Amino acid sequence: MKETALRIRKFGDPVLRKKSALVNKVTSGHRDILSAMARLMYDGEGVGLAASQVGIDEAMVVVDIGDGLYKVVNPRIIKIQGKQVNLEGCLSVPGICIKVKRAKKIQLIGLDENGNPLNIKAEGLLACVFQHELDHLKGKLIVDYASFLEKIKIAKALKELKKKAEHENLSEPAAKSCKLQL
Ligand code: ZN
Repeated sequence: MKETALRIRKFGDPVLRKKSALVNKVTSGHRDILSAMARLMYDGEGVGLAASQVGIDEAMVVVDIGDGLYKVVNPRIIKIQGKQVNLEGCLSVPGICIKVKRAKKIQLIGLDENGNPLNIKAEGLLACVFQHELDHLKGKLIVDYASFLEKIKIAKALKELKKKAEHENLSEPAAKSCKLQL
């Protein structure tokens, strides 16, 4: 796939619900996709992006909370500790914010863009963002964490997003209602 063809997929696009496949061998094609993902993340003023969000069902994520860019292939959490709750937004679900409970500290393994092993310890916001992106690789979205009341509140907005996704992804300015866009 040509990286220039990549764009952020929005709620209602079936690729967001697909489980990502593990990457057997990291190639230059994957490196191109990771670079394009990072660009789209920065353009959208996001702090994380998963490959499924650009229509690719392979296990890759990019994360940058302001202290450097992580590109991780086949990420897997091997240790969790503690709890944190944050209001999370998502570049694929614009305009919606959901309170999500996650682990406070994580240890994550995976491969870098050259296929070398990575071992990352993260806590706080960085840990939150990685967990959000790993959810994407499982086809899970923040709306799945919504409480009963939140579900009622966001139902209309989700319906509109779905309608838009069906009639092609009309571009729209990223909603700024949630400061954490992942
Ligand atoms: Zn997201």
